Amino acid sequence: MRRVLSFALVIAILAISSVAYAAKAPSPQANQPGSRLLAVVGKTAGASIRPGGEQLTKIRWANHIDAVTGAGRLRLVIDTTGPVTVSGTPSATSTPRLVVNVKGAVPGTTETDIDLDGRIADSISMKSEDGLNTVINVELPLLPDEGEYRVFTLPQDPPNKKPFRVVIDINQPLPLANFNFTPGLKDKLIAIDPGHGGTDPGAIGLSGLQEKSVNLAVSLRVKAVLEKAGAKVIMTRQDDRDVFGPNSSAVDELKARATIANVKKADIFVSIHSNAAQNRDADGTTTYYYQKTRYDSMLARNLQAGMVQAAGLKDKGSLPANFYVIKRAIMPAALVELAFLSNPAEEKLLANPQFQQKMAEGIVQGMQRFFAQASGKGGEQ
Ligand SMILES: [Zn+2]
Repeated sequence: MRRVLSFALVIAILAISSVAYAAKAPSPQANQPGSRLLAVVGKTAGASIRPGGEQLTKIRWANHIDAVTGAGRLRLVIDTTGPVTVSGTPSATSTPRLVVNVKGAVPGTTETDIDLDGRIADSISMKSEDGLNTVINVELPLLPDEGEYRVFTLPQDPPNKKPFRVVIDINQPLPLANFNFTPGLKDKLIAIDPGHGGTDPGAIGLSGLQEKSVNLAVSLRVKAVLEKAGAKVIMTRQDDRDVFGPNSSAVDELKARATIANVKKADIFVSIHSNAAQNRDADGTTTYYYQKTRYDSMLARNLQAGMVQAAGLKDKGSLPANFYVIKRAIMPAALVELAFLSNPAEEKLLANPQFQQKMAEGIVQGMQRFFAQASGKGGEQ
């Protein structure tokens, strides 16, 4: 009896701390309570749980971003018709995800697949294989470490008209402000993404030159120059292929590319493309960034300056853009557009090995200046 009471007390404390946790901005301490303890409590309290028969009725979600630190947390809340037990396990069998097992409930809503905004997680789906329990998959950009997620239940709260709930908290995979760059290329881990490939040729020039092959040729040259300087290079592809799979959706393809860099924890991510426009006169070099860290625009600016100085094409600047691949990569990232395939003169240049080499050296020069500048040791051009 004393045992039961003490467990009731633990549950009460957890319920209270959960409410407090939900009310305030995420802090390191708030993220500490482990899912393990909660799972143990759930199991011990399981005597009062009816075996199955409950339903998961509604999924809600919200991102909470700390205005000061920029740290983010995603909270998923799933309403249930009664008490259930839950446990969470990270899995990387296909793509990174958190697998949450819910015992004693099946989906009671047709809304079982929900796209999230990709800031912290991509999507959530739930399914019952055995008609008794449910598996919830939360698709993530990176496998979460212990302490980066919490899975727990909340009891019914009649005064506030709240049902039983399953709660899944996921913290941002990396603290955004926590990059500690040093100058130099030696031992840096650099992810290079040759745009398009395989079933996706990208832009095609008037004389038939395909963007995917220009991008790969320049990327392989960037790799060679970087390795000579002592850097390590991760390529999202080394030959003419789709990274996710043939004829896949753009999102799956881009997600697969950023995931490669995220899983390996690359220092920077650079996607290499060639531009195209309706107007054949359009020309020049451009670099795009999505400012999710302090360093994205700094990286883009330095890459752009490096390419323009090396090859001398028109400087169209470094510009912000909401491109999936650079947004999803968790490290500073940029997408370069070397030149315009749709411009006949630039198409000729893009096919030229000397020009490709100049561009590659300019990109590496830009990376070198970026690391110098990001380390606080000067180098801005
Ligand atoms: Zn492209």
